[in-house]
Amino acid sequence: MKNQSSRRRFLQLTVGGVIGLSIGSKLLVKPVHAAELPHLSIDDPQAKALSYVNESTKGGSNCNSCMLIEGDASAAWRPCKIFPGKLVNAKGWCSAYAPKPA
Ligand code: SF4
Repeated sequence: MKNQSSRRRFLQLTVGGVIGLSIGSKLLVKPVHAAELPHLSIDDPQAKALSYVNESTKGGSNCNSCMLIEGDASAAWRPCKIFPGKLVNAKGWCSAYAPKPA
């Protein structure tokens, strides 16, 4: 009798835990869209270290033509592999600039 009660309690806790984890993960894990990321500030320490600017003065060399930029090519601000969690200006530039292969 006690064995059946323990088994029932174990199943109740297990099923409840699985349901709770499923609901909790859906509520807590929210995908971050690029548009929600903050713009990289030129005052950011990593930006300063790489001489990042929002407006390139290097002719055709800018974030748009860099192989490290990601995301929607038509967006004015886009993710960059060098500055995770921030968006860089498509017209910007930094010293990590690497031209896209022709
Ligand atoms: S590495 Fe520098 S130049 Fe290239 S996209 Fe990122 S910020 Fe722009």
